[in-house]
Amino acid sequence: MAKVIPRPQLSFWENIYFVEIFKGLATTWGHAQKNLIKGDFPTRNYPDELPALPRDYRARHRLMKRPDGTPRCVACFMCSTACPARCINIVAEESDRLDIEKRPAKFEIDLLLCVFCGFCVEACPCDAIRMDTTLGVMVADNRADFVINKTTLMDWAPADYPATDTQSQKAPGGSLHAQALADFNSGNRH
Ligand code: SF4
Ligand code: SF4
Repeated sequence: MAKVIPRPQLSFWENIYFVEIFKGLATTWGHAQKNLIKGDFPTRNYPDELPALPRDYRARHRLMKRPDGTPRCVACFMCSTACPARCINIVAEESDRLDIEKRPAKFEIDLLLCVFCGFCVEACPCDAIRMDTTLGVMVADNRADFVINKTTLMDWAPADYPATDTQSQKAPGGSLHAQALADFNSGNRH
């Protein structure tokens, strides 16, 4: 059953607004005085100074890499099926490895359509797509540049990710790469 929330009854002084306006101005002036005295303004020189975003912030996507540098993506289309904005465009092709069926020949994301919901990351069965790049500011001077392709999505270095992120460290250049590549070539794909 719906709960009725009564409207607050305003007093005469609240109804004429003037007192409330001056109360608001007093609060603003109080904060300004405090900042002036402390000399510490809680403002950021944006965009020259970018905020440090946490890893779980849903930022620009990246495609995870196998130890041999190929994408972990198996072109299953689960991400593009889950995507509410229909902004993931994948073209699948046969893999040249006998133990891997498919790989993406083309993998594009239109960032202008993307709503950064993270459903693609949730839907992926093999941790092949992540949104942990902390690239929260994307700038381009034409619409086509907002469509990012497989090369851009795979252009990341393990050094930019925490040492505890084992999946990233297994990629070429990562701290766990040598052993991971040996395992991969011996048939252990993950
Ligand atoms: S974050 Fe959401 S909208 Fe963007 S590509 Fe992934 S599923 Fe689609
Ligand atoms: S990124 Fe994941 S969900 Fe999307 S096609 Fe590749 S393997 Fe499938």
